[in-house]
Parts: sequence; C-alpha cells; structure tokens
Amino acid sequence: SVNRAGFNIHSAIHAARHDISCIVHTHTSAGIAVSAQEDGLLPISQHALKFYRRLGYHDYEGIALNPDERQRLVRDLGPHMVMILRNHGLLATGRSIAEAFNQIYFLERACQAQVQAQAGGATLRFPSEAVCELTAQQSDDEIEHNLHQLAWSSVLRLISKDEGDYQS
Ligand SMILES: [Zn+2]
Repeated sequence: SVNRAGFNIHSAIHAARHDISCIVHTHTSAGIAVSAQEDGLLPISQHALKFYRRLGYHDYEGIALNPDERQRLVRDLGPHMVMILRNHGLLATGRSIAEAFNQIYFLERACQAQVQAQAGGATLRFPSEAVCELTAQQSDDEIEHNLHQLAWSSVLRLISKDEGDYQS
C-alpha cells in the first residue's frame, strides 16, 4: 500500500527538480502553527534568516490526493529548496540526505522560535533587510562548503550510539 498524498507531493518534486535527491515533509506542531499564519515565516531568528526570500508557499487544497496539485506544488516551490505548505506543514529538499536534513532542521527550529517568541507577547524585533540578506547569503555559503555534512555525520554518530540497529 502507498500513502497517495505523500506520493503525490514527493513524486511531483522529484519529477520536476532533478537537482533534488531527497525530500523531507513534516507535520510538527511548530511547523503547522507557522504554516497557518498569514505572514508565514518571520525573519526574526538566525535560523529563519537562512530562508530569507528563499522559501516557497503552497496554498492548502485539501489532502493532496488530486494529481493536478502536483504542478502547483512544483510552481510554488519555484527555484527554492524549502516550502511551507499552508495549513499543513513543512517541506525541505536537498541535493543529498545531509542537505535535506539540515534544511528541515533549520526550518523546524525557526518555526519553534517564532511560535515561542509570539507566545512571549513582547514586540518582535526585525533585523534590517540588509542584515537579513547578508545572513541568507552566509547560509548559502555554508551549503556551498558542504557544512551540512558535518551536522549530518554527528547525527548519524548519535543515532549509532543509542539506536545502532537502525542500519539493519
Ligand atoms: Zn503532509
């Protein structure tokens, strides 16, 4: 048996974006919460700034069972590597599993920080546009230099330590 909605979402992107070899899609509380916010991901944390003007949004159309939605998923992802599925959750991609993990990890942490900052009730502080763009470019440079592989290697070491049988 196959999760048809999952197949629709993942296959649409794999078929259209040959630069992408891994897609991660999550339904976490913080990710769903931000996906339901009109203004989406706010540039209020270093984690969020990684995605400054580098993030797609896809409007909710119901559970993704309609094959026609595939073209709109691809259109809405556009040239980006990550996308917020409104009223649904998060989606991140990568040219490797390591890169996709890094993207979803940062996007998830950005969403958690946003929800907690909003819950605190204080006025939010926004860095200048220039600093937002600089930070995003710095994050792009990290990807260029394959730094996500460092994080992924440490994750694998952690898993191997506690759950070594995951490989079998
Ligand atoms: Zn989903």
